[in-house]
Amino acid sequence: MAHVITEPCIGTKDTACVEVCPVDCIHPTKKEGDHGAQQQLYIDPDTCIDCGLCVDECPVQAIFPQDDVPAEWRKYIQINIDYFKSKG
Ligand code: SF4
Ligand code: SF4
Repeated sequence: MAHVITEPCIGTKDTACVEVCPVDCIHPTKKEGDHGAQQQLYIDPDTCIDCGLCVDECPVQAIFPQDDVPAEWRKYIQINIDYFKSKG
């Protein structure tokens, strides 16, 4: 299981969540080359330890535990996975 970043991050993308993640699994950070090109940030499901610290940090409530992602945003579970797959 992992946490998932969903639609409200698009257009906000303030990286507040990045600062609190103890395992640095939220990308791309502002230091990464594709930060500008990506609409939102993503959580690496293979690294996330489900600590939940990022949830309250997000000003637009974009982050949910995988099982609690609202129905209309379920596609973001795969979107988060696909970002890290594309990184190899
Ligand atoms: S739940 Fe914890 S480990 Fe997972 S992305 Fe959020 S802060 Fe990082
Ligand atoms: S805190 Fe929320 S809006 Fe900001 S980058 Fe993280 S998920 Fe996106």
